[in-house]
Parts: sequence; structure tokens; C-alpha cells
Amino acid sequence: MSQRIAIVGAGQSGLQMALGLQANGYRVTLLSNRTPEQIRGGKVMSSQCMFDRALQTERELGLNGWDDACPPVEGIGLAVPHPEQAGARAIDWAAPLDRPAQAVDQRLKMPAWMETFAARGGDLRIVDVGVDALEDLTREHDLVLLAAGKGEIVSRFERDASRSPFDKPQRALALTYVTGMVPRTPFSRVCFNLIPGVGEYFVFPALTLSGPCEIMVFEGIPGGPMDRWADARTPAQHLAESLRILQTYLPWEAERCERIALTDDNGILAGRFAPTVRKPVLTLPSGRLVFGMADAVVVNDPITGQGSNNAAKCCKVYLDAILARGGQPFDQAWMARTFEQYWQYAGDVVAWTNTLLTPPPPHILALLGAAGQAPTLAARIANGFDNPPDYFPWWTDPQACHQLINQYVAEAA
Ligand SMILES: Cc1cc2nc3c(=O)[nH]c(=O)nc-3n(C[C@H](O)[C@H](O)[C@H](O)COP(=O)(O)OP(=O)(O)OC[C@H]3O[C@@H](n4cnc5c(N)ncnc54)[C@H](O)[C@@H]3O)c2cc1C
Repeated sequence: MSQRIAIVGAGQSGLQMALGLQANGYRVTLLSNRTPEQIRGGKVMSSQCMFDRALQTERELGLNGWDDACPPVEGIGLAVPHPEQAGARAIDWAAPLDRPAQAVDQRLKMPAWMETFAARGGDLRIVDVGVDALEDLTREHDLVLLAAGKGEIVSRFERDASRSPFDKPQRALALTYVTGMVPRTPFSRVCFNLIPGVGEYFVFPALTLSGPCEIMVFEGIPGGPMDRWADARTPAQHLAESLRILQTYLPWEAERCERIALTDDNGILAGRFAPTVRKPVLTLPSGRLVFGMADAVVVNDPITGQGSNNAAKCCKVYLDAILARGGQPFDQAWMARTFEQYWQYAGDVVAWTNTLLTPPPPHILALLGAAGQAPTLAARIANGFDNPPDYFPWWTDPQACHQLINQYVAEAA
């Protein structure tokens, strides 16, 4: 008899896992606190730009339903305003990605995946799962995965202080989904702008409910001039605040936005959370176990756009481990081992992401500046978004970083 697996949370990781297990003959129960209609009709949740390796995990499961409709993200660019000359840039480069990234609005993707799961005979239950429900699920299933993202229930996993350097939000976050923005040429890209002491802004093409759009992502240092979203009480005010920030700090981005409009009144979001790593196994009062995946146990600030990528890659590690387990029980040692396997990858993503939340050290400033002189170095940095372990050791080791810079600058000369 096939094993029974329950998954709490119908987001990137939970749905990808549910569909992957279903295709492999497992009996899957998927629990979501929102219906497909509620997700479709609700607010945007993310900017969800996913790079090639994460997209590959979806392609392997036949879940890449938007490849033709979604505008590709073909590169990454970086701009830093000049500290003395208003309107000028101290750093300004862009490099193509080896393979394109894409961002499909989760309001489009998640309901479609939920409906596919149900249409294939999956047991989809709409319920806000609490501890009592987890007890019931662990009684009825061989494995219970908690993939509830930033849901309140994930606070039941113990915070891993040794892996969590921050205990407070490091950025005030906002999203603005728009149409009518002038595209970047000759290739589309994530335009990443770093405003020292103020925050970051990045923007890239995506697919939303109504078709192609651009997603504006704001990362303001808390309490600073990019943290005024509480005063924007209507969608129109949110759009006006987005434009105010660009006009004040990033005129080259503002000039692309003369004709922009919101994609819809729900195409906005503002919030904040502390980047946190948690211990991956929850022991219920009964002594039975729940295994955490993706954001539920490793949640990063979106500054590096890695959360959905991590969720897809975490799903891949866990799915392979479940399939390899055959009929053996999913015990605590298996859970700990499986999480550590994911952490071998995710630990680097967390380390890299966290470095971008504090002022950059001199070697990173030198690196980002040198990339403007050496296109192959710019390409190396851009393509690291697809596989952040490639940034190590040089991202955090000044000596290794200067060696790398010298090597690329010499090649460019
Ligand atoms: C502003 C912002 C920008 C971002 N930009 C990017 C980006 O560009 N690239 C990128 O890769 N990532 C990005 N992310 C992160 C990315 O969206 C998440 O990391 C990713 O969606 C996490 O997937 P998940 O499966 O862990 O959880 P989620 O996708 O969050 O799914 C969790 C699901 O569980 C449900 N749930 C919660 N509690 C319960 C409960 N008790 N019972 C039942 N269901 C429950 C929720 O409703 C939700 O549907 C961004 C995030 C933010 C906030």
C-alpha cells in the first residue's frame, strides 16, 4: 500500500511537493487556509522571480505552464547613485543571465496548481491548520510536512539562534505591480538599485493575472525615508509613494515610469519580517513529528530574490529523499539528515543574503565597482543568483575577492 503524506500550505514548496508526490503514486492530503478563488482574488504575495535551476525543478515535474506567456528576465543590472553628483550613477552595469529567469504571479500559479492537484484526484482540504489538526494529520499519515510559509503556525518551530543573526526585520518591504513601464534594452533584466543608507529598489518584467507587467520591489531601511508605506492608505497613494521614491533617489528609474498604472488594486503589498532559520522538526504534545520545509524553516529577506527559488530547491531535496526512503519510516534522524542536505545549499543563500542587509564592506564595494570594467565579472555576479554557493568563498573572504577581481580585470584588459 502506498504511503500517505500530508502537506500543510499550498504555496511554492507545498504545491510543488504535492504534485510531485502525486505523480509518484503517493496518497497526498494538501491543506490550505485559502481557496484557489481567494488566492486569485487576493493581494499579491511576492515578486517570485525564479532563476533557471529552480525553474528546472518545475520543468522536471511538468509544472512549467507559463513559459510562453511569461516575459523572460534575461539579465541582472546594478546601479548605485553617485554620492556627490545628483542624478549620476557611481556604479552602473548589466550582464546577461546564461538562461532566463521568470516571475509568474503566485495569484496565477498557485490556484492553477491547486486545481491540477484536485483534478488528478488529490485530497485538497481548505482549513487553517493548528496544533490539534497537526495531531490528527500525524495520526492518519506516514509523514506530515509543514510548508506554511510565513503563517503563524510556523512559529511553533524553534528559532535556531546560531543560524539567525537578526531578531528584527531588516527592511520595510513593498511591492507595486504595474503596466506601462518603458522596458530596458537590449535585454530585459532585474534592475537592482542600491541607495546607501536608504534601501534598495529592484524591478523586472513578470506575468500577472491580466498579462505582462513589471514588478517594483522596495526594500527600505526601517525608520528611513523609504519606510513610509503606513501613510499610503489607498492603492493610488501606494503608487504615488512608489513614484516619489524613484523621483527622489533614482531619476533613471523614474523616467521609465511616466505612463505606469497599477495592474489592479490588489497589485500592492507592504510589510516586514525578520529573516529567520528554525529547527526543522516539531514534536507535537503526542510525541509525533512534523517536518518543516522552505520558508517555514528558512525565511530570507527578499533582497536577493531567493525565497521561491529556495522553496523549489528545498522541495527537490525533500522529494528525492522521500522517494529514496521507499517504505521505511520517516523518523527524526531521516528528517534531520534531509534538512541538513538542504542546508548545505541554503546556508550559503542565507549567508549571502544577510551580507546585503548590512552596509557593504570595502571588498564588496570594490567587487561591484570592478564589474563595471569587466563584463565577465559582471556576468559571474549576475549568474550567481541562479546558484548562490558560487559566491563562496570570495563574497565573504576579502583576500579571495581581491584575487578574483584582479583575475577578471586582467582578462578584461
Ligand atoms: C516582498 C517579497 C518579494 C519577494 N520576491 C521574491 C523573488 O523575487 N524571488 C523569490 O524567489 N522569492 C521572492 N519572495 C519570497 C517567496 O515568495 C517565498 O519565499 C516563497 O513563496 C516561499 O514558498 P513557501 O512554499 O515556503 O511558502 P508560501 O509560498 O508563502 O506558501 C505558504 C502557504 O501556506 C498557507 N498557510 C499558512 N498558514 C497556514 C495554515 N495554518 N494552514 C493552512 N495553510 C496555511 C498560506 O496561505 C500560503 O498559501 C518574496 C517575498 C516577499 C515578501
